[in-house]
Amino acid sequence: MTVLKDDSSKAFLEIARPASFYRPAEERLHDWKEVEALPDPEILHEQTLRCMNCGIPYCHGYGCPLENAIPDFNREVRCGDWRSAWEILAQTSPFPEFTSRVCPALCEGSCSAGAEYGSVTIRQIEKTIIETAFANGWVTPDTPKRTGKRVAIVGSGPAGLAAAQALNRQGHEVTVFEKEKSPGGLLRYGIPEFKLEKRIVNRRVRLMEVSGIEFLCATRVGRDISPDYLLRKYDALLIATGTPTPRDLDIPGRSLPGIHFALELLGGQNRLLGHETDLLPVSAKGKRVVIIGGGDTGSDCLGTALRQGAISVEQIEIMPKPPVERSPSTPWPEWPYMLRTSSSHIEGGSRRWSILSKQFLGNKEDGRERVAGIEVYPVEWSFDERGKPLRFVPKSDNPEIIPCDLVLLALGFLKQNPKSIAEELGTTLQEGMFFCGDAASGPSLVVRAAADGLRAAERIGEFLRDRK
Ligand SMILES: Cc1cc2nc3c(=O)[nH]c(=O)nc-3n(C[C@H](O)[C@H](O)[C@H](O)COP(=O)(O)OP(=O)(O)OC[C@H]3O[C@@H](n4cnc5c(N)ncnc54)[C@H](O)[C@@H]3O)c2cc1C
Repeated sequence: MTVLKDDSSKAFLEIARPASFYRPAEERLHDWKEVEALPDPEILHEQTLRCMNCGIPYCHGYGCPLENAIPDFNREVRCGDWRSAWEILAQTSPFPEFTSRVCPALCEGSCSAGAEYGSVTIRQIEKTIIETAFANGWVTPDTPKRTGKRVAIVGSGPAGLAAAQALNRQGHEVTVFEKEKSPGGLLRYGIPEFKLEKRIVNRRVRLMEVSGIEFLCATRVGRDISPDYLLRKYDALLIATGTPTPRDLDIPGRSLPGIHFALELLGGQNRLLGHETDLLPVSAKGKRVVIIGGGDTGSDCLGTALRQGAISVEQIEIMPKPPVERSPSTPWPEWPYMLRTSSSHIEGGSRRWSILSKQFLGNKEDGRERVAGIEVYPVEWSFDERGKPLRFVPKSDNPEIIPCDLVLLALGFLKQNPKSIAEELGTTLQEGMFFCGDAASGPSLVVRAAADGLRAAERIGEFLRDRK
C-alpha cells in the first residue's frame, strides 16, 4: 500500500489510478463470468483519498446523469463508513449495481484529477459500495403507504425499472408489462453476461417484486393487450419500449445468409445462458467473423464471438481511429472523444478504422449461397481545427476483400418519435400517456435511461396528484 504523506489532499499526485480490475484474459475467455473482479478495498480506499473534493464537483453535476453525490460517498468510504456511503448513493441512484458494471463512467470523464493525473476510479467505488450494501443486508424491500393510484409501464429495461421503483416508492400500484420472458430489457437480452451477470438483474427484480411491483412478462402491449385498455384500467401509462429497430446496411449482397444484426448473436447467447433456449440462433463457432461497427455493441459481439470459438474476429469502422489521448474537440470536463479499448479488445481480434463496406460477396457451397467476403474501401477523413472528423472521401481505386463466414451488423439503433411509437402500439398520443428512456431519447446509456425513468416518475407523480 502506498504510504501517504501527512497532507493527503495531494494524494491524486502521489497515487496512480489503477489500470484495470480485469481478471486475466486467458482465464476469463473460458467462462462467461464478469470480466471485472471486485477491487481490493485497500486500493479503493486509496482511490477515495485521490478525490479532490472539488468546490464545484463536475463529476456530480456535469458528468453523472443521476447527479450522484460522488465526493460525499467518497468521503464516507475514506472514513470507512460504508453504510453511510451506500445511503448517500441510494438517494440518487436506483440501480448502482447495474451502472457500476456497465456505465462508461461519464463521471470519470469530468473528474478534476482526470484532467491531468487519471480520474478517481469512481465506478469501482460505486460497485464496492453497493455490493457491500447487499452483502450486509442493507438493501431491503420498500414498504410504501399506498395511494390507491395505479400505473402501467410498458417495457422493463433500466428506464421502465427505474420508473417502476420510484412510482412504487411514491405509493402507487405499479404493473410492468414486458414482451420478453423475463424483465430487464437490454440489461438481460443485450449486454453480455461477461459484463453484467444476469443474477444481478434477478436480484434487483426480486427485490422490486417483494416491494409490491407486478411484472407481467411474455405480454406484448399492442398485440396481447391494447394500450387503450391499459389507459382505462390504470391512472397513467408509461411507455419505455427502448429502440428495437437496428440500423441496417443496405448494400449489394445484404440478403445473403450469414449476415446478422448484433442482437441476434448477443440476445441468443444470453437466452442460452439464461436457459430460455437450447439452441443459438447465430453462432460464431469455427467462423471467420467480421463485425461492422466500431462501438460498444460491436465490442460486445467481439467478446461473445471469441467465447463462442470464432477462428478470427475483425471489427471494422467507417469513422477514423480516435486519438489515444482526449481530443481537443472535447476539452475537460466534456466526455472525451478518444480511443477506447474494452475488455473484449484486450482478449483478441483486431480492429480497423476508416473502412467503408461496399458490398457483400457470396460463395456457393452445397448448392446454397452464403456470405464469403466483404468488399471494402479505405476512406480518407478531413478534420476541423480541433480534430473533430468532418467528412470522408472513399479511395475507390484501392478495394480489398475481407474473407468471412459470419457478418455482424453493429451500427446502432433507430430513434423513434412518440407519435410513431403510439401508432405501432395501435393507439394515439393522449392524456395520461408518458414516454421515457431510449424510446424518448433515442439509443443511449443505461444511466441515462434510468435517470429518465426517474424524471418520468416525477412527472407522473405530479399528474396523479393533480388528478386527485
Ligand atoms: C448490445 C448492447 C450493449 C449495450 N451496452 C451498454 C453498456 O455497456 N452500458 C450502457 O450504459 N449502455 C449500454 N447499452 C445501451 C443501453 O442498454 C440502453 O440505452 C438501455 O438499455 C435503454 O433502456 P430502456 O429501458 O429505455 O430500453 P430497453 O433496455 O431497450 O428496454 C425496453 C424494453 O421494452 C420491451 N418492450 C418493447 N416493446 C414492448 C411491447 N410492445 N410490449 C411489452 N414490452 C415491450 C422490450 O422487450 C425491452 O425489455 C447497450 C445497448 C446494446 C444494444
